[in-house]
Amino acid sequence: MYKALYRKYRSKTFDELYGQEAVVESLKNQVKNNELNHAYIFSGTRGTGKTSAAKILSRAVNCLNPQDGNPCNECENCKAILEERAIDVVEMDAASNNGVDDIRELKDKVIYPPTNLKYKVYIIDEVHMLSKGAFNALLKILEEPPAHLIFILATTEIEKIPATILSRAQKFNFKRISNDDIVDNLSRITELENKKCDEEVFNLIAKSSDGAMRDALSVLDQLLTIDKDLIEVEDAMRIMGISSNKLIFELTDALIDKDNNKVLELIDEISREGIDFSILTSQLLSHFRDLMLVKTLRDPKKIVFSTYIKDFDLQSYKIELYELLEIIDRLKDLSIDMRYAENKRVLLEMTAIKISMRLNQKEIISRIESLEEKVNDDSFKPLNNHKALDSIQDKGRNNRDYSHIEDQSKKLISNEKVKENEAKISKENSTSKNTKETDNVENDAKSDIINSDIKIDEIKSNWDNILNEIKAKKFSLAASLVNSVPKRFENNLLEIDFSNTDEMFFKMCNNDENKSIISDVFETIYGVKIDVHMIYKKIKKENKLEDLFGKDNIEEI
Ligand SMILES: [Zn+2]
Repeated sequence: MYKALYRKYRSKTFDELYGQEAVVESLKNQVKNNELNHAYIFSGTRGTGKTSAAKILSRAVNCLNPQDGNPCNECENCKAILEERAIDVVEMDAASNNGVDDIRELKDKVIYPPTNLKYKVYIIDEVHMLSKGAFNALLKILEEPPAHLIFILATTEIEKIPATILSRAQKFNFKRISNDDIVDNLSRITELENKKCDEEVFNLIAKSSDGAMRDALSVLDQLLTIDKDLIEVEDAMRIMGISSNKLIFELTDALIDKDNNKVLELIDEISREGIDFSILTSQLLSHFRDLMLVKTLRDPKKIVFSTYIKDFDLQSYKIELYELLEIIDRLKDLSIDMRYAENKRVLLEMTAIKISMRLNQKEIISRIESLEEKVNDDSFKPLNNHKALDSIQDKGRNNRDYSHIEDQSKKLISNEKVKENEAKISKENSTSKNTKETDNVENDAKSDIINSDIKIDEIKSNWDNILNEIKAKKFSLAASLVNSVPKRFENNLLEIDFSNTDEMFFKMCNNDENKSIISDVFETIYGVKIDVHMIYKKIKKENKLEDLFGKDNIEEI
């Protein structure tokens, strides 16, 4: 019968266990000194060796000839347990045996001494799944445990275990296994299986298994069934459902070049290959993060782990740092939205187009600046200048073109997320349609709030802390605020001055979403709800622009 690799190569002694040195050291000492506990809790994320360690411990405590705290795996007792014929070692899965009755039944059984072994050992997997009644029955046993009894409770969710149980057990936390350890084990097993893989294959599997050896081994399991002399990285990518680096670089290029057509074509190509859009999103996010690091760090090789470091370097020249920050923000939000989304493709396409459009911001800003210059020019006559007006309206049309896609895809996100986003959209819509109305509503809502007595000097001296809090919510906003100055605080209205910094940052910050983030942070720190007003010394010219074209024809940026 075929045996999965992770079963076939399960560690059989503590010394063979990967990446859990502290746990191993302590358990071996307990076995050596015969200082055993009646209950152990092994907690940690999946695939980190909890069940393997439980099985090893069940043999070590019963071994007739233990080796430095490890089971010998040769003696009669070890063999009986290994071959699963020892009736004194019982494995239960709480996910399937979560009834009170099973544990009550246990209570009647555990009082009898073991038939053949030294200890009766009960291993309960996923113990957090036990019902309340079952936990109570278990507690009764643990309150007065017979001398020959050991419970090993394994869980991925220790916070769900009642405190009464926790206090009666010794807790061991299993860490995520390091990439180096995973690579080491993968190449060892591949060799034992008489197969060959590119070294890059192991790195790729380790990187994507998030510290879970079992996940890594099940990918290897599928890979080793491929009938090839040398298994290559492309084979691994196909099996893992991830896009090749070539595709990711192409998609990133298209996003940087604002080539919407190419972007959508590539997404279609990726879709046809059956690649999961959530995985693609996290690949893109990590790609843009690497670009940011390559652009920022003096020696990116220390952090960016990639054979493509030169390609990253080239790509990073084509894009500004502030653009990268914005894109990373958008992709971060997308990866959260993906969890709730039914139609992930629409969501990805929408974000991709937004990214391309967002990159046009620089052009839009320069367009507005050139308009401003014309406004100052006496010969300028607004009614005759259809071109200027058109270019502004064009931008509005472009925005509207995508709004229906946006509305559609938001509907695909379930529950609160929908409400939250719709509220945001409707707020955005009403703001762009009629700023005055929104202002009134906001003022009404806040009119009953008592003005606080915070002084502007206090805010100034605390500005770095405030920026730190903002950074946690939206990195790009904090980055754009770095050279701004809190100027005035009166009647719960905070005025932030951007005159010392590039106008671009003012334009990037000055919108309702950002203002409400700043306001929220303020509420967290000072417990006061505030309004935020942003100023820039050229602001008068914008008013002129509004007078000429009418406020509705000027889009907020
Ligand atoms: Zn033994």
